[in-house]
Amino acid sequence: MSTCETRSTWTEFLRFVQQRCSATAFENWISPIKVVQETSEEITLEVPNVFVKEYLLSNYEKDLCNFLPERMPGKPAVNFVIAPPPKKRLLVQDSSPSSTSSSQNVPQDEYREVRLNHFYVFKNFIEGPSNQFVKSACMGVATRPGQTYNPLFIHGGVGLGKTHLLHSIGHYVREHNRKLRIQCITTEAFINDLVDCLRNKSVDKMKRYYRSLDVLLVDDIQFLQNRLNFEEEFCNTFESLINQGKQIVITSDKPPGQLKLSERMIARMEWGLVTNVGIPDLETRVAILKAKAEQKGLPLPNDIAFYIAEHIMQNVRQLEGAVNRLNAHCRLLNATITIDLVEKTLKEMIQHVPQERISVEQILKAVAAVFNVKVMDLKGSQRTKDIALPRQVAMYLAKEMINDSLMMLGASFGKTHSTILHACKSIEKKLANNENLRRRINMVRRNVR
Ligand code: ADP
Ligand code: MG
Repeated sequence: MSTCETRSTWTEFLRFVQQRCSATAFENWISPIKVVQETSEEITLEVPNVFVKEYLLSNYEKDLCNFLPERMPGKPAVNFVIAPPPKKRLLVQDSSPSSTSSSQNVPQDEYREVRLNHFYVFKNFIEGPSNQFVKSACMGVATRPGQTYNPLFIHGGVGLGKTHLLHSIGHYVREHNRKLRIQCITTEAFINDLVDCLRNKSVDKMKRYYRSLDVLLVDDIQFLQNRLNFEEEFCNTFESLINQGKQIVITSDKPPGQLKLSERMIARMEWGLVTNVGIPDLETRVAILKAKAEQKGLPLPNDIAFYIAEHIMQNVRQLEGAVNRLNAHCRLLNATITIDLVEKTLKEMIQHVPQERISVEQILKAVAAVFNVKVMDLKGSQRTKDIALPRQVAMYLAKEMINDSLMMLGASFGKTHSTILHACKSIEKKLANNENLRRRINMVRRNVR
């Protein structure tokens, strides 16, 4: 078979597929494939990522054999290469006026302004053990969009900084990479946009717009649950962007597997990095309070900051609220802050703190379930690796989730405070490069609450 014949058979294959799948699926999955080399024995295809390769083989392996040479019966002689990272391609686009990049196909007036909260920048985000990893993942994505984790999925409870981090990525990209098209949108706004466009019959324009972005930041994907029609459109947009090597970041109040969305959508969101933003520990809460007070010009002594942080635990937005309220009172009454004043002003907030305290026993049970060991063994002193690691995890989580001194925590485990400290350090060190352990610990966290 000559080179020319091979090319025409690939073209014929494309024609064949085009008649069998939807225009969107064709555009998302088949169009990004490029023929890079062809001989009479085999063909080499360039794909943007392994998912496109998998899609092609799992849906069309047999059909490919009818159009291309076979390596062995039922196996087409196809080699795959992964396309170079998008940055290089962007540079090529910039210097080449004839480039067919989708973003260049979209008229300038179809671009919309990105609305970002000016305060939500990396600089204002206080780090601690509960959010260090997620922050560094966000910084990685912001500095090299489309080239590190894609998609990046951030989940965690209310008021823990998900939107703050999402906007921080937006600011960073806007400042450092002006040429990139970026949009930051809540899932509700995406749905409303789609509804408007359906009404005005301008859906194609909307699709073109979203699929031309280089970075898409989507807040609160949980609002896509039970919205089947919108979910499909979102998923198509998602696939189109990912297959062009464009960056997607998604936030959610739950991990992907717990969202009531289609398997297809959940699988897509699990393709990249799934990361959790947790409840900040006592020291981080104090640091957040002090930073917020300083921004307002409110002098906040350490003991007062600790007092508030010990009583408001679940949510950074509430910590902010406490500082705002104290600030207003101090200014109105021209008073200095005392524990007494704090108690009076923050009475309702402090009362709202859930009474239910997490116990060491609850943590041990959750650890035992996730690590498949017995609670009894965790309490014992056996030092084999399969018991020692989960035992250290339990100590690490007890320090994070229970507001007791190390001494008291030590006593609950029948150990000294230095054993607890040693366990925490050892787990922190392991977490730096052990993704599997990180996932299991996140699982325990979810099981405890
Ligand atoms: P979420 O989207 O997770 O519900 P937000 O990002 O809206 O939470 O955060 C709530 C408020 O708390 C915001 O004003 C945000 O700036 C602040 N905040 C959250 N986490 C931090 C942090 N680690 N450092 C500083 N401020 C934070
Ligand atoms: Mg939010």
